[in-house]
Amino acid sequence: MSDYSFFNDVCSYVDKAGKFTEHPIGLIEQIKACNSVYKFNYPIRLADGGYHVITAWRVQHSHHRLPVKGGIRYSSNVNEDEVMALAALMTFKCALVDVPFGGAKGGVCIDTGDYKVQELESITRRYTTELIKKNFIGPALDVPAPDYGTGAREMAWISDTYTTFFPEQINAYGAVTGKPVSLHGIRGRTEATGRGVFYGIKEAVSIAEDMKALGLQPGLEGKKIIVQGLGNVGYHSAKYLQEGGAIITGVAEYNGGIYNEDGLDIEELLQLKKSSGAITGYNKGKAVENSLEMLEYECDILVPAALENQITSENAPNVKAKIVAEAANGPVTKDAEAILLKKDVMILPDLYLNAGGVTVSYFEWLKN
Ligand code: GLU
Repeated sequence: MSDYSFFNDVCSYVDKAGKFTEHPIGLIEQIKACNSVYKFNYPIRLADGGYHVITAWRVQHSHHRLPVKGGIRYSSNVNEDEVMALAALMTFKCALVDVPFGGAKGGVCIDTGDYKVQELESITRRYTTELIKKNFIGPALDVPAPDYGTGAREMAWISDTYTTFFPEQINAYGAVTGKPVSLHGIRGRTEATGRGVFYGIKEAVSIAEDMKALGLQPGLEGKKIIVQGLGNVGYHSAKYLQEGGAIITGVAEYNGGIYNEDGLDIEELLQLKKSSGAITGYNKGKAVENSLEMLEYECDILVPAALENQITSENAPNVKAKIVAEAANGPVTKDAEAILLKKDVMILPDLYLNAGGVTVSYFEWLKN
């Protein structure tokens, strides 16, 4: 799949939808285009005295509404195509939930596990400074937020750097969202994406007619669910789904998964992940070394809540879930989508299902 382009996949959805409109072809081209793609390299000093050159991006997909909005991802797999696709998804996500922002996304190509906290702080502060230099951040211009590999701590560093440069700006705290509550953040932002995933699934399974077509009973109660990813989105989605009566039978992490047909305790799994860095040592379930296999396990609802490109044309024919709930951005490729739809699998699309995060970011921005 080396020729796979996430951005092309996203664009092909626009082409598909565009056919249902009267828009001229040139306008569809403009809707797809990334307005600004900024790639930059900068050095940071390591704790041992050495240096690393960091490669990073900020992509502003659409300026039709300002500021543009979207998270910053820290991952060693970050690349330009990915950041462009994620920025485009932000445009469509904001439009769908009528949050008045254009779409953007940032990426820093690092494995966070390779760096000490002070080094991550240097990486984040310098990233922010580079954005300031080029006018790529500001409460009325471009407002970052957390994404894969980042959280409230990183947003606090960004906010502190930004306000240091612009102490006179009365709106300066609105230059980034997802900040800690004690540093001008907003209650509920951390849980917001997972909470939205929960409500989206709960609503979908409440429609008796649709459930009948899938051979399922209406309601969350007793639904067997496998979640991929126990990060912020995966954990909160699983927690609320479990509290809502569903049974979490599997959790797949990048370094191994856990399965138990009778259900897992999400809080216990999170504690284990925090203390040991993995969940495979959990003694009330079967460890699954190659956790990608779990996407093909028997379940009612599959919740990919990690990264894009997880359900592909290779594993889609083996997916047994009746509902695939896209908590992550772009977890099902376009080719895989066609296969799943042919099998009558219901897909709850990412830009609807995970829009809770940016929605609460909007409230934080407004408050700031
Ligand atoms: N990174 C999140 C997303 O993909 C949140 C973006 C934001 O709050 O601006 O939707």
